[in-house]
Amino acid sequence: MKKLALHWKIIIGMVLGIIWALLSSTLGWSEFTIDWIDPFGTIFINLLKLIAVPLVLFSIISGVANIGDPSSLGRMGGKTLGIYLITTVMAISLGLLLVNIVPDNFFYSLSNNGLMLQIIFFAIFFGVCLLFIPNDKSAPVLNLVDGINEVFLKMVDLVMQAAPFFVFALLAGVVSKMAGDDIGKVVEIFKGLSWYSLTVLVGLLLMIFVIYPMILKLFVKQIPYKGFFKSMSPAQTLAFSTSSSAATLPVTMECVEHNLGVNKKIASFVLPIGATVNMDGTSMYQAVAVIFLAQMHLIDLTLGQQLVVVATATLASIGSAAVPSAGLVMLIIVLDSVGLNPAWIAIIFPVDRILDMFRTVVNVTGDATVCSIIADGENMLDYQDKKSPTETFEIDS
Ligand code: ASP
Repeated sequence: MKKLALHWKIIIGMVLGIIWALLSSTLGWSEFTIDWIDPFGTIFINLLKLIAVPLVLFSIISGVANIGDPSSLGRMGGKTLGIYLITTVMAISLGLLLVNIVPDNFFYSLSNNGLMLQIIFFAIFFGVCLLFIPNDKSAPVLNLVDGINEVFLKMVDLVMQAAPFFVFALLAGVVSKMAGDDIGKVVEIFKGLSWYSLTVLVGLLLMIFVIYPMILKLFVKQIPYKGFFKSMSPAQTLAFSTSSSAATLPVTMECVEHNLGVNKKIASFVLPIGATVNMDGTSMYQAVAVIFLAQMHLIDLTLGQQLVVVATATLASIGSAAVPSAGLVMLIIVLDSVGLNPAWIAIIFPVDRILDMFRTVVNVTGDATVCSIIADGENMLDYQDKKSPTETFEIDS
């Protein structure tokens, strides 16, 4: 029998997790699920996050040092940040557009990310200095860095073998915490926030299935619509189940390099930065949430205030750590910037984790899109239509 691809196993794990949570809530076992199954989900995310930090460090050093000359590094760095910024502002504008056409009458993260930004800065600094020392001195260092990188990728490979089980635990935990011993509660929660959830969802799905493919079609002709999704599905399913772009980063890198055919030099520079600063899904959701909360309290935000939302949501998404619920915490800043009560985040809190799953998929898809554009611009993209690219996902040893 053909081996089932990893992302299918992860999807099966997710579905079984949800079924388990619904059953356990009906049978009154929610406490058991939360106490004994949910912790495995947390262990999984922590394991992946643990690997993500050194991976960001070493892959950026190797990415920068392998680019070879400082001037092309400057050009690529500028392009990377520029395009990331453009996609973020586009996402926020789409969010604002959607929430504004909807009828009126409806109803510790920063410090973590600060650390990640310092790591990125250090890695770029280190990599650039490597470029300036004699070859015979830098070569062994670079070899070491590349070797260490491989070790971390191998770690991800091993952890990922167990992903379907961990994902089962994650989903069982998330749903059990929402439902308690009464499934009806989930329906009630979503009913109260249905317009809001729907607007966020429509916006996020538009980003994934319309906006990014359109951008790709415009700028990167060689990657077809279906091929893009086939290539990225392992990263997208993992992003969905973990709600963490940092935890997903190693798999995103594998998919972008092996399946989309982006040169390693580009991927190992552009993606770790993207996972940390480029969060289109998060910024869009923050924009929609602010307008929704304002409307709910019968406050109309002026055009000027909405522009402030665009600016602060951009900054807040850059400041959000790539971990579950970071976007919700940073929403406080966006609410504050237009004089709204930050405590209102409590209103949307109940549905946040589910929306977080979708926005993390957008964040990861956005990073992959920008990475492909940059690789294509540098002539470092070699997409090949493989029959089932996900099988090449296995990290080569
Ligand atoms: N969970 C998101 C991510 O890791 C961040 C957020 O919006 O909360 O990309």
